[in-house]
Amino acid sequence: APGTNAIVRAVGLGKRFGQFQALTDVTLDVARGEVLCIIGPSGSGKSTFLRCINQLETVTDGALWVDDELVGYRRVGNKLYELTDAEIARQRLVTGMVFQRFNLFPHLTALENVIEGPVQVLKRPKAEAVEEARGLLTRVGLAHKADAFPVELSGGQQQRVAIARALAMKPKLMLFDEPTSALDPELVGEVLAVMRDLAKTGMTMIVVTHELGFAREVASRVVFMDAGRIVESGPPSEILSRPTNQRTADFI
Ligand code: ADP
Ligand code: MG
Repeated sequence: APGTNAIVRAVGLGKRFGQFQALTDVTLDVARGEVLCIIGPSGSGKSTFLRCINQLETVTDGALWVDDELVGYRRVGNKLYELTDAEIARQRLVTGMVFQRFNLFPHLTALENVIEGPVQVLKRPKAEAVEEARGLLTRVGLAHKADAFPVELSGGQQQRVAIARALAMKPKLMLFDEPTSALDPELVGEVLAVMRDLAKTGMTMIVVTHELGFAREVASRVVFMDAGRIVESGPPSEILSRPTNQRTADFI
């Protein structure tokens, strides 16, 4: 929010789907450089919160700032105007999102998947985009798979391409929604390793995960959500070892 070090500021954030209140009174700052892990049972609103930050959902109550801008609105003097679709698309570029399902473009190679956004959306010259994409594929350990199609890659490899593809857009904030939940157990480690390396570079990350070992090791802070609310938040050493809330204790 303006004048703070927060890249995300949610104040009394609520999200309703019809009559159903998926998020209630979520108030949270995420500082630049922080790695925030969100844990909580299925249906507790974790994905909805990420989707609000990424503007895949519109907020129904409260306010949300991402990278110093009020999500969905522009302030002119003391009036607020709703953003146009083009303005929202630009605002969304601040965040990169990685989903549980890798959802790569099936008809494009790994390299083509990574350059698609930079070339089509950011209008980067193709040669430059290719060079950067090769660097990103190297970073996720997949330089040798640049010309492979998604169907030729394991789930872990596809997810690492998805991370490279998100990074190619140069986001200021990376959102991960259970990035390893759809993977065979033996492939989880390679994806977490890439995420750990990314955290070391200082990337700001919000990670919804059931990997409590990863949260313990990498998170600067852990948030426990239940029934659409933040129940408890604090350093992993507290939340994951001696939670004060019984619902958190029951979950971990
Ligand atoms: P989590 O990611 O913690 O499992 P979600 O954020 O996906 O939880 O969902 C929170 C609640 O909101 C769930 O009860 C879910 O059924 C509901 N929900 C999510 N998206 C929608 C939607 N588009 N329409 C109606 N209900 C939804
Ligand atoms: Mg979810």
